[in-house]
Parts: sequence; C-alpha cells; structure tokens
Amino acid sequence: RTAAEAAERARPAVTTDGHAVEIGANVNKPEQVAGALDQGAEGVGLMRTEFLFLESGRTPSEDEQAEGYAAMAAALGGRPLIVRALDIGGDKQVPHLALPVEQNPFLGVRGTRLLLRRPDLMEPQLRALYRAAAGGARLSIMLPMITSLGEILAVRAAAERIRAEVGAPAVPLGIMVEVPAAAEMADVYAAHVDFFSIGTNDLTQYTLAVDRQHPELAAEADGLHPAVLRLVRRTVAGAAVHGRWVGVCGGIAGDPFGAALLVGLGVDELSMTPRDIPAVKARIRAASKADLAALAETALACATADEVRALDTAPAEGAG
Ligand code: PEP
Ligand code: MG
Repeated sequence: RTAAEAAERARPAVTTDGHAVEIGANVNKPEQVAGALDQGAEGVGLMRTEFLFLESGRTPSEDEQAEGYAAMAAALGGRPLIVRALDIGGDKQVPHLALPVEQNPFLGVRGTRLLLRRPDLMEPQLRALYRAAAGGARLSIMLPMITSLGEILAVRAAAERIRAEVGAPAVPLGIMVEVPAAAEMADVYAAHVDFFSIGTNDLTQYTLAVDRQHPELAAEADGLHPAVLRLVRRTVAGAAVHGRWVGVCGGIAGDPFGAALLVGLGVDELSMTPRDIPAVKARIRAASKADLAALAETALACATADEVRALDTAPAEGAG
C-alpha cells in the first residue's frame, strides 16, 4: 500500500461541513487491534467477550480476564475500548455452561438477564474489568440486551460495589440498545447510563419479529427498515435529553449507505468490522451533515426497507 493510501485511511471521518464521526472497530483480541488501526479504526467500539468462553471451551478465570482486557487496552495505546459484558443466550450458546434448554432462547434468559442470575459469571468479569481500569487501562463497560431500568440499576449497583472494592476509578457504563423497549425508553434510561450503542442486528430481529439467522428470512431482516431507523431516531433523541452519546455497532454501521443514514440520524459513533472502515469513512467524508440529515428524514418517511435502499444513489463501491 502506498503512503498516500495509508494516510487516507488514517484521516478521520469528517463531513464536508466539519462534523466528526468517531469510527470504532468490532474486534475481540489484542492481536486484531493493529490490523483494525491500519484500516483506520480510532478505537474499539465493541469487544465481544463471549469469545473468551467459546474459544477455550471453559470459563476463563478472573485473572485471565483481567489480563485479557488490559492487553486489549494496551494494544490500543490509550484509544477508546468498549468491552461488552458477556452476551450469552439466543444465537450465542456456550456448551460448557450447560444452561437450561429454552423453548424461545431469543426471548429467554440471555445477555444481562443471564448475568443477573449468574453472579458467578458477572462478578468476576466486572472485577476483572475494574482491575484492568485500576491498572491504567482506558475502557468502558457495555451491557448487552438491556430491556428494563431494573436491569440497569441492578448491574450498576453490583458494578459500583466491585469498583469500590477494587479501588478502581470510575468507568463509563453504557448499554446496548437491541430491544425496542430500550429505544423507546432511551430518554428515561439515559439518566442512568453514560452512553448507548445500538445493536442493529438484534434490534432488527426484535423489531421486525424476524429470526436474525433464519435461512428463509434473511432479506426481511433488513436493518434499514424504516421501523428500525425510527427507533434509532428515538434513541438519539432520548440520549440527547441527558447529553449522552449514541453509537451503532450492528451490521448497518459497516454499510456505507447505512452509515450515511445513521450519521444523518445524529449517531455519534460507528463501530464495525475493520475491513468495512475505509469505505464508510470515504462515504462520510463525501457528504455534508446537512445533506445526510435530509437523507435520513426522507428515509424515515419511507414505507419499506426497499424504498429506503432505493435512496442510495451513490455509485457502487469500486465503480469509480
Ligand atoms: C447487534 O445485535 O447488533 C450486536 C452488535 O451484537 P451481536 O451481533 O453480538 O448480537
Ligand atoms: Mg446483539
């Protein structure tokens, strides 16, 4: 790659009218960080911690987790790192935990619901995160699959107790918006969290009642459906009531047209698979925030996902 290409990738995603969008990578391991930075990532917007449990086929110890989070932060050299607490259940089954089989796992004990029932999983992870923070790691903690305020308050209370025990500094605590209830209630929940990150993969599934992995329904599980975009708007408006920032770490953040819409909707941060970063940055740099806001308004008024997609008039990637 030429020096000019490398410089282009490193440039921030700033619209033509000067609005900067933070660009993160969805990566899980310290070894993946250099590659993500090379693609132009400014931090890690989603570290999925399930892999720690899946790869080794066992539950990692608190020490192993603390080392892992510290190593991730070290690889980032002070750039932001958002670590998502364990999101198990639904599509993320961990065989060695031998959890009860459920009739409807996507509507069952998953994500934060599981953490609250299993302090033996939640507490070592929180302690490991605060130990890493006490050791100087810059990180934020993000809770998956939040539905209710009670879940937020219960994890917050445990986290604060553990933080005090460890003697760690305050760590931003945010939630994923993956359930329509969380998007609708964003103005209320914003008083109790430091940030939101919208998981459009799950938010689409739960909004449209389409299994995200269903082989026949892939086309229907479209994150650009206006119903999903309206929930993004709702989240951004709710977050603003308390001055919180909003990111998106689901798949549409890595689609240049999806990213353009999200910026138009007022999203502050986008986190994606590293290889998607250059095209997303290029798309953001090519437009003004005002134009993207107008595009988003048009999309919100569409009746279908196909109508939204038809608004994408940019030449296909690589078409010159
Ligand atoms: C999402 O649901 O959009 C998300 C980012 O989380 P995951 O894909 O890990 O469920
Ligand atoms: Mg999810």
